[in-house]
Parts: sequence; structure tokens; C-alpha cells
Amino acid sequence: VKINTTDPNVFDFVVIGAGIAGASAAAELAKDAKVLLLEAESQPGYHTTGRSAAIFTCSYGPKPIRALSRASEAFFRNPDSEHIEHPLLNIRQVIFAARADQHQTFNTMQQELGEAVTAIDGERARELVPLLRQGYVSHALHDQNASDIDVATLHQHFLKSFRALGGQTMTKSGVTGLNRDGANWQVETHDGKFKTRAIVNAAGAWCDEIAQLAGTQPIGLVPKRRSALIVPAPENLVGNDWPLVVDVDEQFYLKPEAGKFLISPADETPSSPCDAQPEDIDVAICVDRIEKAFDLQVTRIEQKWAGLRSFVSDKCPVVGYDEKATNLFWLAGQGGYGIQTAPALAKVAAALALGNEVPQKILDHGVSIDTLSPNRPELRP
Ligand SMILES: Cc1cc2nc3c(=O)[nH]c(=O)nc-3n(C[C@H](O)[C@H](O)[C@H](O)COP(=O)(O)OP(=O)(O)OC[C@H]3O[C@@H](n4cnc5c(N)ncnc54)[C@H](O)[C@@H]3O)c2cc1C
Repeated sequence: VKINTTDPNVFDFVVIGAGIAGASAAAELAKDAKVLLLEAESQPGYHTTGRSAAIFTCSYGPKPIRALSRASEAFFRNPDSEHIEHPLLNIRQVIFAARADQHQTFNTMQQELGEAVTAIDGERARELVPLLRQGYVSHALHDQNASDIDVATLHQHFLKSFRALGGQTMTKSGVTGLNRDGANWQVETHDGKFKTRAIVNAAGAWCDEIAQLAGTQPIGLVPKRRSALIVPAPENLVGNDWPLVVDVDEQFYLKPEAGKFLISPADETPSSPCDAQPEDIDVAICVDRIEKAFDLQVTRIEQKWAGLRSFVSDKCPVVGYDEKATNLFWLAGQGGYGIQTAPALAKVAAALALGNEVPQKILDHGVSIDTLSPNRPELRP
């Protein structure tokens, strides 16, 4: 792929979508290329990026995700950026909790995660989170290395770094058409037309719609709705430093959030790309599951929202040039892990998009480029 163009009217890359994926990739690409970042909304974090649970843990998700999270950890712990004044991570341990009838999932998970977690019994879990109902948890896996992420600061770091490198961001500029025009793409938006050598498809839940605009085959991306609620904590039971508790079968989670609790039914309901909103049924399921596991009576919901976690069939991200469309680059399918993997994923994406070697220190964490390829046969049989 020949990128660097000398034509002042042509960008090297147009990145579509300014969520964490597009913003981070744009910031990396702008070090070597002329980049335009296009966002449909007036706020770059309006969709999934602004709706996450903001957790960093290397013990969550499939193997390739855990490798990408490990490869991102050094940046999170030492971001070395003028746009980041406070630590990006704050300790928030995680407990994967199992009832006695969930021992099979517990065993599989323990084998898979190895030394990243410590096995504890129900009593110890209750010492760590006294709100757990007596006798509910039989065994648990304890990730002591997990943290809360300051997502807004991370996202702003990427957007500001991009701008400082000469990158241009346009909001309220939804892409409506993509057409080949000689050696370039012509990008039509609500706010004018642009020419570019290559396109980076980082449109979150809309990535398959962008593929269709570009005339290439979709990758089978399924946006899945996940809901979250903020509820008050019982009096004198605040526990701001308690770990997040997540069910081993991912049926619910609870995490302390500024003197309250963030709770979720961990729903994964397929949806078309949209401005996701929580459904009453998921709110009811959430309250029911949480009240069974914790000594908590949810009498009031202070806030609720939903966001789309977008997955392909193997739950791994999709990063690379589409072999069926000239200079169309995918950065999609980050699922429920797009914040914690963004630093490494952006470096992988920029290296592949520019035709450079992927940095060895990322590969050393076990990141395999083949598992991320948009051309892997499982995606488009
Ligand atoms: C409840 C919940 C909890 C989560 N918890 C975590 C967590 O703890 N840790 C973690 O790492 N991840 C978590 N995630 C997942 C994480 O939020 C996502 O993986 C990540 O935000 C995806 O980023 P993105 O940039 O791909 O998508 P988005 O943030 O959705 O960005 C895509 C952007 O593309 C824009 N766009 C779409 N179409 C067009 C177009 N035609 N033209 C221009 N722009 C367009 C959209 O407006 C949008 O801004 C969670 C998600 C949810 C919903």
C-alpha cells in the first residue's frame, strides 16, 4: 500500500469514527501521515466509548484480547503524555465469583487464566466484599492487578495528541458515501467531500455499514446491547475500595462507583447499530440477579444507560486491510474490551496500515496478527 501522497487535496487516511478506536489509531497514524478523523456525532465519545464500565483487567476476554491488554498495560501505567496529569488507572481488583453449581466454569476459567488470578473461597470473597450474601459464593478467582480506567482522559489524550500532530477532526460529519476515484477514495459526508488514499473503518457498531458503503463484504459484526445502572449504596456500606464482583458465567456484575454501585445484568442482546437504550426487562433482570447475590435492595435507580459491544464470531478484533477492497482498513470488533486494548491495538493498526513491522514488544505479549486479520476465513465463509 502506497500511502504518503504529495497532493495537498488528498489525505493519506480518512479515519471513520472518533470513539476510542478511531481516535487512538488516528493519533498513531498522524505521526507519519496526513489524517482526517470524521465523526458523525457532535461528541466523539457519544456511543460505546462513553458508556463502558471502564475496567482494565488482563484476565478478561479471549486469549488474543488478554494478550492485547497485557501489551497495553505499560502505557496505562506510565502514559508519559502532556495531556495526562493524573494516573490513568486506579486500583479496582476483580473477583470472578462462582456458586457451588458453577464449579465447572470456575475450573475451566482457573485453568485458562493460570497465574493471572488467585483462587479464593467464599469466605475470603465476603471479607473483600462484605455486601456478598452469606453462602452465595462458593469459590472465586481474584485478579489483584485490575484497575478502573479514566476513560475520558484516555480518549482526550488520543484526540489531543492527534491534533498536536497536525491531524484534523470533524464532528457532525457522518460518512454517507464511499467511492473509488482513480487511485483515491472519495468520501462523502454531511459536511462535504474529501479525497484520501486509504480509509480506516473504525465506526464501532456501524463498521459493517461502512463496508457496504465501500462495496465490500461485511465481516458479520453483531452489535450486542449491554445495560448498566447506578444505584445508591446502603447507609454506612460504601466500600469504595471493594473489588468489582462479576459472575463467572457473566450473568451480572457490581462495582463501587463514587459512593454508589454500578450494576449490570451483563446482557448481550443482538441489536442493529443505534443509539442504544436500556430495556425495562433488562433492568428488572439486573435487579433480580443482584439482589440474589448481594445483601442489597434496589429501591431506586439513579441513572441507567446501554451501549453496544460489537463482536464477530470469534470475539476477536478485526484489524487489517481488506483483501477484497483497495486500501480499506478495518479496525472493528473490539467487543467489551475496546478501552483496555486501545493503546496496543492502535499501534498494531498504525503499523499494519502504514506497511511497517508491528513493534516486537507488542508481539512479545503473544499478540498474533493472523488472529486479527479481516481476511481470516471464519469471518466471511
Ligand atoms: C456497558 C459497557 C461496558 C463496557 N465495559 C468495558 C470495560 O470495562 N473495559 C473495556 O475495555 N471496554 C468496555 N466496553 C467496551 C468498549 O466500550 C468498546 O469496546 C469501545 O468503546 C469501542 O470503541 P469504538 O471506538 O470501536 O466504538 P464507538 O465508541 O461506538 O465509536 C464509533 C464511532 O463511529 C461513529 N460513526 C459511526 N458511523 C459513522 C459514519 N458513517 N460516519 C462517521 N462516524 C461514524 C459513531 O458516531 C461513534 O462515535 C464496555 C461497553 C459497554 C457498552
